[in-house]
Formats: sequence, C-alpha cells, structure tokens
Amino acid sequence: MKLSNRIIKMQESVTLASSARAKELREQGHDILDLTLGQPDFQTPTHISQKAIEAIEKNQVSFYTQASGLPELKEAIVTYMKTFYGYEVTRDQVLAATGAKFVLYAYFMAVLNPLDEVIIPTPYWVSYADQVVLAEGLPVFVAAKEANDFKVIPDQLEAVRTDKTKVLILNSPSNPTGMVYTKEELLAIGAWALEHDILILSDDIYGRLVYNGNTFVPISTLSDALREQTTVINGVAKAYSMTGWRVGFAVGNADIIKGMSKILGQTTSNLTTVAQYAAIEALTGQQDAVEEMRHAFEHRLNTIYPLLKAIPGFSLAKPQGAFYFFPNVKEAMAMKGFDDVTAFTNAILEKAGVALVTGTGFGAPYSVRMSYASDLETLKEAVNRLSVYMSEPS
Ligand code: PMP
Ligand code: GLU
Repeated sequence: MKLSNRIIKMQESVTLASSARAKELREQGHDILDLTLGQPDFQTPTHISQKAIEAIEKNQVSFYTQASGLPELKEAIVTYMKTFYGYEVTRDQVLAATGAKFVLYAYFMAVLNPLDEVIIPTPYWVSYADQVVLAEGLPVFVAAKEANDFKVIPDQLEAVRTDKTKVLILNSPSNPTGMVYTKEELLAIGAWALEHDILILSDDIYGRLVYNGNTFVPISTLSDALREQTTVINGVAKAYSMTGWRVGFAVGNADIIKGMSKILGQTTSNLTTVAQYAAIEALTGQQDAVEEMRHAFEHRLNTIYPLLKAIPGFSLAKPQGAFYFFPNVKEAMAMKGFDDVTAFTNAILEKAGVALVTGTGFGAPYSVRMSYASDLETLKEAVNRLSVYMSEPS
C-alpha cells in the first residue's frame, strides 16, 4: 500500500462527497434536487466582481503577494473588525488565506502538538475533526443536547477537560444546527476557558446570517481577556456569496498569526491575488447586498421550516442563523425501516430525488442536513417530495 496512514485514516468531506454524488446523478439525467452544499445561490455582488476586473485591467494581479495577504487586505480586515466587532487590532494580528477551511487547517497546524486535545461540541462542521487529526491532535467530542438547542454548557466541557486540553472550538451560528449562542452562554463558557487557559477557536463565518431578531454575539467582543484567548476565523464565502473566490481570514494573537503565516509560506503561498482585491471591496465597500441576501434566507427559513417540521417523523427546533435545517429523523428512519442514517439519506436520494447530507459526518447519527441556500421553488418541491416519500408505504 502506497498511501500514508494519515490518508487512510482520514474521512472524505461528507458535504463535498454528497454534493459530487448529486451532481453525478444529475449529469446522468436523474431529476435530483440538490440541497447538499452550504453555498449561497446568488451571484457575487457586481461592485465586488468589478473591483477584481479593475485589478486585472490595472495589471495588479500578475504577482505573488505576501503569503499572509496584501497589506491593503489586512487593513481591510482591521477595518472590518472595527466596524463589525467594535475592537481595534493591528495588521500583525490578521492574515488572509485560501478559504476559511484552509485558515482553520493552518490554525491547527500552528497550535497543536501531537495528542493535544481539541474539544469539539457535536454536531460539528465536518472538517474540524479530520483537520485536528491531520495536525496530530486528538478531537474530543462533547454531545450538545438537542433539548438545549444543541449548545454545550461549561459542566459538559469540564467533564472532558484533561491537562492535554488545548483548544475549544465554537461555531455560532452553527453549521449544521443553525443555533446561536447568547451572550450569557458565551460568558459562562468563556469564564471556564479562561480559568483553565484553554484557547478558543471561534468560527464566525455565519455571523452576518442571523434571522428573526436573533443576534450574533462574537465571544471575542465580551472582554479583553476573551479577545486575547480567542482566534477568530471568518471569511467572505457565506455573507457575500463568494464561495468560489476562496478567501478566509483569521484574527488573533500575533504569535499564533505568525505561526499560521509560516504554514501559508510553506504550503499555498498567498491566496489568489485577484481574489484579494475582491475581498477588500467586500469587507469595506457597500454592504447592502449582504442584507438583501440575509433577508432572502430569512424568508426561505420562515416559509420552509413549518413545512419541514410537519413531515411525519421529522423533528427540529427553528434555526436562528446560517442556512441549514438539521432535523432529527430518528422516527422517520424507524417508519421506513432504517437504523442507519446514511442508508436513509441514500434512500431519500434514490426514491425522492432529494440530495441531503447524512448526519454522520457531523457527529449526529439520527439527523440529516438540508441546506436552504437554494431558491424557494426548489425548497418547496423538496419538502413536498419528502412528504410524499414519508407517506408512501415502505
Ligand atoms: N467553517 C464553517 C462552519 C463552514 O460551514 C465552512 C464552509 N464553507 C467553512 C468554515 C469554510 O469556508 P470557506 O468556504 O471559506 O473555506
Ligand atoms: N461549508 C459548506 C458546507 O458545509 C461547504 C462545503 C464544505 O466546505 O464543506 O456545506
């Protein structure tokens, strides 16, 4: 066998794998509604793309930049933090790289020694655990209770803390549950992290996408001590509909940022230069399009949630942010004779023509994920197909 043990042990990304499968079936002519990927269905706002075009026309994009990003982009991130988080950072506390996914990887590579433990509340976004393992750390899962809207509390964290615990991952609004931590909940978790000197990795990528009067509270804004303890991961993909541009960023302690920049220097080098010019405009230009898209997601959420909840065997609390439904389908599985959620997800794909993502990759064996970053007609048709499938005799 020529492959490394690392690759053999590693899981494929279930989100990307299910999206690839849905595309393949569609290409073969099957009628598939693809609700797998979390990517906005809007075009990148024109004023952002226009800046990229201008940068090409001005011959600004032919060359490498600093591995950690153009000074102008770092300055844009500094401005963004001031505007949306309300605090000042310096340029040596920020970096930009090829998507938030790679920024996360650079973080784990920069802070973890072999077998350092990283607490990951479940359900969690699919890539955290494998990235921690790639960096030779140990993921420690803590099951957030569905009755507590899938949010963990300090007692649960304390129960798994050891002297190897190095990092706690927080992702609010959450992919996949859509739940948002309140200020009080974060203060309690933050106090626990500070008491035991545990680093906080706050993945804020859905921070601009909260609905129905809920608010996003970044843990890094709650005190100076919490800001120093936290590395913020963010990006332009979700809020600005720029998944394909691949721009993510990190903000935090200057030593950690320097460590992460070293990783960039020896792996990707800078993220694509033209994308950096687009990101500057996204972060500091006109923000109206973000609100328009947020509004569209909110409307989809409010329209589809009651329909999805009414499907026999599906149960879920109303998501507050991001753009995913994450119903518990344990009863639905029993009704259809399944005890494995991946097999159930595959049956939905084959029999109902609706592509969802199995909960297993998110650490949730009785849930499926449905992205609502898709147009309303497709979403309505998908819930309709699911209802029909669930009411057919199995
Ligand atoms: N964090 C979370 C929670 C995500 O859902 C995603 C998905 N895109 C990312 C990070 C990575 O974002 P990017 O597309 O910028 O790599
Ligand atoms: N983050 C998105 C999702 O969860 C995009 C796919 C990925 O990067 O995993 O669907």
